Amino acid sequence: MKSKIIKSKRTKSKRIKKERDIKKTKKISNIMVNVLVTLESGVTKKVRKVIKSDLEWGKILTPHEFEITRRKGTDKPRFENLSDGSKVGIYYCKCCNLPLFTSKAKYESNTGWPSFYEPFSKNNVKNVKDYSQNMIRDEVLCTRCDAHLGHVFKDGPPPTGLRYCMNYESLSFKEKRI
Ligand SMILES: [Zn+2]
Repeated sequence: MKSKIIKSKRTKSKRIKKERDIKKTKKISNIMVNVLVTLESGVTKKVRKVIKSDLEWGKILTPHEFEITRRKGTDKPRFENLSDGSKVGIYYCKCCNLPLFTSKAKYESNTGWPSFYEPFSKNNVKNVKDYSQNMIRDEVLCTRCDAHLGHVFKDGPPPTGLRYCMNYESLSFKEKRI
């Protein structure tokens, strides 16, 4: 009888521990991650990272946009402008609307993809090594939502010598005074 009571007590404490562990895991996944970005106003501050499930992204992106930005797809070269080329403004992340590039740094690279020699702010994009397709490339992601934007190469024009080769579907353009 005594051993039965001890056993049931043990089981109970095991169950409580398990419940506590589940609660802990839930808490960790709910922790908000902050990242440093530069807003359109020029103010640099920590903001909450945009984290969504595929289902949630699927509701706000077209299937093609989803494929490019969330599945690291590549647009076909189009040789057309996101704006009409002469317009002054800002290029934003299609997924989270963070300013990523300006028309000031846009140039014609003759590759068929929108090309920029520098980002709106170094805070707003991040590079990671991409070893796909038997190449070593520097992939460019949006800092706030991790959207795949394109790649950066070291064959760009002055003053940086960089070529941010972006996908059309990763960016949206708004005419703005900059
Ligand atoms: Zn983004």
